[in-house]
Amino acid sequence: MPIFSQVDFDAHEQVLFCHDATVGLFGIIAIHNTKLGPAAGGCRMYPYKSTVTALKDVLRLSKGMSYKNAIAGLPLGGGKCVIIADPSRPDKADLLRAFSKHVQSLKGRYWTAIDVGVSPKDADILAENCDYIFARASQYPEGFNPSKFTALGGFTGIRAVVKHLWKTEDLSGLKVAIQGLGATGKNLSHHLHEAGAELFVADINEEAVQFVVENYGAKAVSPDEIHRQDVDVYAPCAMGGIINDKSISEIKAKSICGLANNQLATEIHGKMLMEKGITYVPDYVVNAGGMMGAGTRIFSQPTMEDSKKRVMGLYDTILNLLEKANSRKIPTSEMADKMAIEIINKTNNN
Ligand code: NAD
Repeated sequence: MPIFSQVDFDAHEQVLFCHDATVGLFGIIAIHNTKLGPAAGGCRMYPYKSTVTALKDVLRLSKGMSYKNAIAGLPLGGGKCVIIADPSRPDKADLLRAFSKHVQSLKGRYWTAIDVGVSPKDADILAENCDYIFARASQYPEGFNPSKFTALGGFTGIRAVVKHLWKTEDLSGLKVAIQGLGATGKNLSHHLHEAGAELFVADINEEAVQFVVENYGAKAVSPDEIHRQDVDVYAPCAMGGIINDKSISEIKAKSICGLANNQLATEIHGKMLMEKGITYVPDYVVNAGGMMGAGTRIFSQPTMEDSKKRVMGLYDTILNLLEKANSRKIPTSEMADKMAIEIINKTNNN
């Protein structure tokens, strides 16, 4: 396979293939760019069908981290790692320990944390053999999941959308459809409910739906119907690729602002949303709250209040982005990429 010319390769600085035969570890670390600072991005454990699929994912995700960290104003570059394994494996802890030695070997050029299949408790296991791990359970009060910072960022993003589109700070009566009620979607529901929004929710997990219906007065909707709701904001908080040719023709929401990664099936779908008059908040901008809240520990020692305040700074970032894209008549996704590249290129580091 021609790795350097494959479509997801974007002049990545370093790609490390990690193997440990004693535990059956197969992993990849991708460092996209370290101009702004050490690369940082979560560790994903997923049973990829092939090494090529895993490589594509880690290349794409690490580039996204460079852009995310840049727009979030963090002195961090972009990186990501994947472990090719089912996270329900009984020897998961052994894999994490073996993998963390590879992260340690990079001596702080790359920091990692939680992601799909890797929890804050798993991050503590990674930290047993490695000094470059953040978003660990032990760094926070019992029961606190750093995904709450991401959810707060999502709520802040929706506030910015409301200000941009309707010139108000009042969210009461705002209709929001939330797809996915896991670590981020459930907490986003909480914030929106507190602010008086009317919620429409879907998840393939019945229990998750029931909780939000009972506690936040949400209306349950079938997972196949959630994107078709006639609402003000559609908040995808589950899987990627959900904004595609088919769904765009069915989406009635005036805005899309949610926390799932890689929402656009392809770049062209950002343009299609603009043409349809749907205000899209690029995923990597609005879901930067986790990095802004937890990633800051790489270079500082913020209090919980400092972290929340930083996350809420996304309000101005998103308003600025929406206004700039509007005035230049370009898709918000394109505007975000331009802003991120400009921040990275203008730094004097390195
Ligand atoms: P999670 O696994 O805790 O929750 C995802 C939820 O989506 C689950 O409840 C699952 O049952 C549900 N789901 C799966 N398929 C669905 C479908 N077809 N329809 C409706 N619901 C479905 O994950 P999370 O941490 O909440 O992350 C959600 C998304 O946000 C992911 O794309 C993740 O990469 C992204 N993200 C998360 C964070 C974070 O801090 N957790 C940060 C940045 C980005």
